[in-house]
Amino acid sequence: MDMTGMKAAATSAQAALGDAGGTAERRVTVLGATGSIGRATLDLIADAPEGRFSVQALVANGNAEALAAAARRVRARLAVVADAAALPVLRAALAGTGIETAAGAAAVVEAAAMPADWTMAGIVGAAGLAPTLAAVAQGGMVAIANKECLVCAGAALIASARRAGTMLLPVDSEHNAIFQAMDSAGPEGVERIVLTASGGPFWNWSLTQMGQASAAQAVAHPVWRMGAKISVDSATMMNKGLEIIEAAHLFDLPDDRIDVLVHRQALVHGLVYYRDGSVVAQLAPPDMHTPIAHALAWPGRMTVATPRLDLAAAGSLSFEKPDAERFPALGLARAALRAGGTAPAVLNAANEVAVRLFLDGRIGFLSIAAMIAAVMTEVGASRADDLEAVLAADAEARAAAEAHARTYA
Ligand code: MG
Repeated sequence: MDMTGMKAAATSAQAALGDAGGTAERRVTVLGATGSIGRATLDLIADAPEGRFSVQALVANGNAEALAAAARRVRARLAVVADAAALPVLRAALAGTGIETAAGAAAVVEAAAMPADWTMAGIVGAAGLAPTLAAVAQGGMVAIANKECLVCAGAALIASARRAGTMLLPVDSEHNAIFQAMDSAGPEGVERIVLTASGGPFWNWSLTQMGQASAAQAVAHPVWRMGAKISVDSATMMNKGLEIIEAAHLFDLPDDRIDVLVHRQALVHGLVYYRDGSVVAQLAPPDMHTPIAHALAWPGRMTVATPRLDLAAAGSLSFEKPDAERFPALGLARAALRAGGTAPAVLNAANEVAVRLFLDGRIGFLSIAAMIAAVMTEVGASRADDLEAVLAADAEARAAAEAHARTYA
């Protein structure tokens, strides 16, 4: 959604909340309820004052025990597992609670399409595409924590949000920061935005050292505690590349107005440069509860009991330009964004395969970007008008990447 659309949606969301600004009960659905973003969202909901939120549906992949515990804790109306084999366990765990249960891919999409004021789109990977699109088409507010949705199906998702009058709330820390820094000003005043990056574990390594990097070294992230896949994405800086694409869709900006700065302390998450020379930045300790709470309470604010930013203790903050030669993933992502259509979906799929091959010890660290570049050239880009076109490009890119596994071994 462009910023004009965001402002319009903001106004209607504010109207829906009433003059008291967020005192009406907000009906919430959480897609990806047992993942790290979903758990943090439910922590915030459980800690909020009575009557602030009511939980419509919780959706998880296959962890029925964790889903049942979460559903009991927040008294959800419905709990859904994507994996149908997990349904008996879910049913047994929720017997006598009055909480409804369902299972399967269609039930997940149905739950996402149920009326809700606010939905957390927190299902990781391609599995999140269909339910996120369903939630966006339903209306209300959708907090976007699934990068792949915007990277692979950004144009379709933004168009659908515009049609339905759905407000998209960025949860990725950098995008949430930009959203906060932009929230009170018009888009016409924005010159460019800056996403910060921690630089990952190989920030100061030479190309030779990077060529010999092991999976264990790549997943040792200096600041954020994350899963193996996203840790490798941080080490290659593909995570930031995907975030450039995400930002282009969310804020309707071309790639040459989205910059990246390496900021090792990870306290400044995003900056907006305005035409008058002003720069507005958002700062917070690196804790996902803060951007999630911002989205959950938007356009209001809610109390979050996390440690506060202590700038005196932080001392100095440093900023550097990323090195294009040692981090070619940034250039690949920009090329995919400029190519448009299915190119970002191809980039994302090739990256997922390459990262898995690297984690399995089958290709070297520098081969990740080399393999992605080869797959992008081979598969090319076509129109990405709907989910089918995106999924077809995704499958083609995965197959092409698998076929390259030996070449780069
Ligand atoms: Mg991020």
